Amino acid sequence: MIPRKYLEKLRQEMAGRLLEAGDPGYDQSLVIDNGRIDLRPGVVAMCVNPQDVATAYKFAIEHEMPFTVRGGGHSAAGYCLNQGGMVIDLTSMTAKRLDLGRQVVWCETGNRWRDLYLFLQATNTGLIPIGGGCPTVGIPGFMLGGGISFVSRSYGLSVDNLLSIDLVTPDGKLRTISAESKSKEDKDLWWACRGGGGGNFGIAVAFELRVHQPNTPTMLCGQIRYPIEYAQEVLGFYNEWIEKAPDSLAVYGYMGKVALPAHPDTLVNTVGLTPIFNGNSREGMDLIAPILKFPNIFINLYDMTLPDFEIFNGLLTVVAGNSAYIRSGFMAPKSFTPSCIDVLTGSMTTAPSSSSLLVWTHMGGKVTEVSKTDTAFWHRDARFLWEVKAIWPHANPDQSVENVNWAYKLGEGMAPHSIGAYCNYIDPLLHDWPQEFYGDNYAELCRIKESVDPDHHFRFQQAIGSPFNPDGAYPPNQAPLYRTFLV
Ligand SMILES: Cc1cc2nc3c(=O)[nH]c(=O)nc-3n(C[C@H](O)[C@H](O)[C@H](O)COP(=O)(O)OP(=O)(O)OC[C@H]3O[C@@H](n4cnc5c(N)ncnc54)[C@H](O)[C@@H]3O)c2cc1C
Repeated sequence: MIPRKYLEKLRQEMAGRLLEAGDPGYDQSLVIDNGRIDLRPGVVAMCVNPQDVATAYKFAIEHEMPFTVRGGGHSAAGYCLNQGGMVIDLTSMTAKRLDLGRQVVWCETGNRWRDLYLFLQATNTGLIPIGGGCPTVGIPGFMLGGGISFVSRSYGLSVDNLLSIDLVTPDGKLRTISAESKSKEDKDLWWACRGGGGGNFGIAVAFELRVHQPNTPTMLCGQIRYPIEYAQEVLGFYNEWIEKAPDSLAVYGYMGKVALPAHPDTLVNTVGLTPIFNGNSREGMDLIAPILKFPNIFINLYDMTLPDFEIFNGLLTVVAGNSAYIRSGFMAPKSFTPSCIDVLTGSMTTAPSSSSLLVWTHMGGKVTEVSKTDTAFWHRDARFLWEVKAIWPHANPDQSVENVNWAYKLGEGMAPHSIGAYCNYIDPLLHDWPQEFYGDNYAELCRIKESVDPDHHFRFQQAIGSPFNPDGAYPPNQAPLYRTFLV
């Protein structure tokens, strides 16, 4: 328990607010995407500038108070929050500006992607960032883990478009790190912060991002849903066809229940494709014509700006306060084999909850043009990234065990078809997570961690260097889902 006089001193030193249980805004500050997370920190430091961040961080270290950093609050495991410690909350830090000449945006890390989309739309420049398909995802967590966008095949990962980071480093200093950094330590941090995952190497307070003029002002994008009975036919075709797609075309995927258009109360199992073409609609329609030929439930195609599509479509996968457990896996090219499709359809048609869904990201293109060791993001050669979300009502915690076990089992079934997992879909039940998330880059991440944060001030159960490793047995011990720190 921190004596009150010290908390009062911190309160006076901060320009922002220090919230405790019972204060207006405290409960609100704990609302994150995954409603399964029920963690109540001792204090929430609502920072309004980098000095507040450094002050709160130094206080936590001095008083040996465990802390976590909160950006957009979309951590699958809720690692932005913690029980009893301090949350360093950045959500009030939303300044941003565009340098039109350089096509660079500077933004503080309390921004979510939607904030940046709306900001850039208001400039009437047509410029787009390489951001999240979901508009409410925070920029910092997304960026620090790599960041895969609908247009990553055209422009690379989000981190490939990152120019600098203002970072409160584990020694409490505020530094700007970039490709121009001179010291060994700053160069190491620059490497590690591009794919090494949030919460590991410091607190990012601002980013400079390269923004792009897309090939055409609007893009062909939309959703196609086929009855699940056609999954082998549709995905068997997709598996081969997609290898010939130009970098300007990404076709994501979906499995889950949808309402029949004429009978909205009737939910049916579907497989879906989500094309996004960075180019004009006529050309895009020609390119995607082959996937329109299968019997479908609906085809909704649009010609709109990418940010409009991201804002309009992107809430498809939010948990929005319901309870969720997430597993993921990267896949090599041509991995949608008949046996893989059987695993997916078999699992998705027997999901205990009708809200659960599976999506996959289409990678390749410019993502592969950076080497696996140039940044901490290891899975450059993956073609797809699948993600299953078991989603059940927040009001029914008794359904947790069954739903978690279901998604876990799906993950086991997909193991032979997967080549690692995504640290941004962080999964506290994943056996051998360092290798799965970081591959051969993990040893270098550990070396950098020891060098810049020898006392492991930045720690949580899946932080770089943590000894935590679930045993991989089925059914899994679910206790790690309900904590941030290793006990
Ligand atoms: C609906 C949904 C859609 C998604 N879509 C995509 C997608 O299209 N592509 C993709 O690549 N990923 C996607 N993700 C994954 C997303 O990138 C991660 O969940 C990411 O960690 C979210 O970042 P955040 O800032 O919102 O989360 P937070 O929960 O705030 O933070 C995530 C982690 O980063 C740490 N952190 C937060 N801010 C900072 C900071 N400033 N400095 C240091 N550490 C920090 C936190 O402590 C936590 O450990 C999606 C997630 C969801 C829920």
